[in-house]
Order: sequence, then structure tokens, then C-alpha cells
Amino acid sequence: MINKTFTGILLAVALMACNTTPKEEPQEEVAKDSIASPEVITYPEYSGKEPTKPEETEFYKPVPPTVDPNGKNGAPSDAIVLFDGSNLDHWISSIDSTEAQWTLNKDGSMTVKNKAGDIQTKQNFGSVQLHVEWKSPAEIQGEGQSRANSGVFLQNRYEVQVLDNNDNDTYTNGQVGSIYKQGAPLAKASAPTGEWNTYDIIYHAPEFNDEGGKIKSATVTVLHNGVLIQDHTEIKGTTPYIGWPKNEPHGKGPIKLQDHGDNSRVSYRNIWVRELE
Ligand code: MG
Repeated sequence: MINKTFTGILLAVALMACNTTPKEEPQEEVAKDSIASPEVITYPEYSGKEPTKPEETEFYKPVPPTVDPNGKNGAPSDAIVLFDGSNLDHWISSIDSTEAQWTLNKDGSMTVKNKAGDIQTKQNFGSVQLHVEWKSPAEIQGEGQSRANSGVFLQNRYEVQVLDNNDNDTYTNGQVGSIYKQGAPLAKASAPTGEWNTYDIIYHAPEFNDEGGKIKSATVTVLHNGVLIQDHTEIKGTTPYIGWPKNEPHGKGPIKLQDHGDNSRVSYRNIWVRELE
């Protein structure tokens, strides 16, 4: 009996030993001073004595300008209409600055003319709100990056990708709505192949110091058919096919539309821009 009891006690002690949680390795203490805590945001203009009347927190200046959202051709009344279907007067060839050679269609659109090269605005822009409508051809040709590839370049450098991605996978940072080779879109929001898409782009240009160093990155927000696909995305430099993004200093630049050179047959219509400064 004693032996059985003794054996039981031994077993219980052994089991307890097995269940003991292993000692945690001592963590290296991080000095609190070494972690930079974000500065708390305060609003001096909203401090002091608490207002007691509604008019104490109401102001009347500055007065925002009035903009008719349905101005000429449906563009806001203060927008620069870059293409309304009647001509290509705002555009030149990116190859030699001669007249843009893309095909002007009777339905108020224009189509990339294969191997005619990119076209770009005559006017240079910095920060903008840009509206572009585009359509990939209903008749499908090619795969991956070779299916209706075009693009909208901001300041002649930073590409928002245009591509027929419907049932056509490719690398995500090169798919439709990507900041090419940098930022994948938050969603795929394409219209069915052969139907019109809208891009509404809010772009803030980068800033450079006198020595040519970049002191503020460009940012871009893109709504694709009304769906947010780029949310104030930082543009880390140019968007080349091969190589890292580059950050040569620059000022205002043209808006450019891409001829990818493989018979993309992408069409554009109703392009307008509002300058933001
Ligand atoms: Mg492209």
C-alpha cells in the first residue's frame, strides 16, 4: 500500500514537472527614450475659451469659386478640355512634336494608331485632377501585357496603367490601374472588355530642392469607374519597364497617352483636366 502511494506521488511530481511552462528567455529591454513617439496633433485655432454661440465658429472667407459640374461636354466649367472628340489640337506626337497621328473616330473617340508613338499634351501640367475615359477593343488579341496595353502618364513620367485585364492575368503591379511596376491597385474594377471605363485621377506633383534632391514624393489617387483603386499612393519615381524608379528633378510636364507598340487599339474619349496648385 505504502509502495503504491509512494509511486503515485512520484508520478504526480513527474507529470507536474512535464507541465511546467518553460522559462521565457529574458527579453532585451528597449529603452523607452529610443522609440520616437508621434507628435500629438493640436489645433491652436480651436483652443482658448469654449464658444457658446454658433456664429463664433462660422466664417465667410475665403469664398470657394463656383464651378458648374456640367459645363461644356459634361466637363466642369473650369476644366481644360483636352479632348472632346472634334480634333487632336491639344496633342502632339511624343516622338517628334509634330501633329498627333492617332485615329479620330466618328463617335467622338480617338484610337491608338499602332506604332505612331505616344501622344502628349502641348500644355505642361503639375498637380491635377484628370478625367480620362478609355476602352479596350471588343475583339481580343494578345495576352498579359500585350492585350490592349496603353497608359496615362503624369508629368510625362509616371504611368497609370491601362490594360485589358479581364480574364487576363499579369503581374499585379502591372495590371490595370497599377502605378506601373510600383503600386498594385486596391481592386480590379474594369468594365467588360469593349466597354468604356473612366479614370478620375487626383495627382500631386513631387517637389525638389535647389540641389535637385526630391523633398516631397508625388502622390496619386485613382477612381476606376468610381471605385477607389489608388488611395493617395506615393509615387517613388519613374515607372520604367526595366530598372528602378528614377528621381531626376523636373518641373511641369505633359500628360502622355501610351502607344504600347503591339496594336493595342485602345480608344480614348472625353479627357479634361483641372489644375491644382
Ligand atoms: Mg502601359
